[in-house]
Amino acid sequence: MTYPYDPQNVFAKILRGEIPCKKVYENDVALVFEDIHPQAPLHLLVIPKKPYNGFSHFMSQASQEEILGFFQAIEAVATQFSIHESGYRLVTNNGPHSGQEVPHLHFHLLAKKKMEPHFS
Ligand code: AMP
Repeated sequence: MTYPYDPQNVFAKILRGEIPCKKVYENDVALVFEDIHPQAPLHLLVIPKKPYNGFSHFMSQASQEEILGFFQAIEAVATQFSIHESGYRLVTNNGPHSGQEVPHLHFHLLAKKKMEPHFS
């Protein structure tokens, strides 16, 4: 399976420093910043620094260190924002059926409000 990557997507531009973001955390493999249209009081986007267009691409191509570091970034911001006990929602949209708009892997981290238990 091939996973073409569009280097002109908005998150690629953020990673190249061509457009700004409100960064809250980064490690060797991941960057975390605020979503520009927040759907919760805390709405962060966790993205890999390397070019993967979605979760399937990431899991088929990334190294174990990269995968571990990516999920460690999520854990780190959960600690940073003290949301382990109150909880948070993690969502990633992967491919056409999911409604993914930006073709660079991102996990949405939503928190600081009580969310409905269903998806549409
Ligand atoms: P998705 O529909 O899963 O691809 O989500 C894309 C997300 O990226 C949306 O929640 C947008 O609000 C967010 N977004 C788009 N452009 C920017 C930007 N320049 N900075 C931060 N978030 C953005």
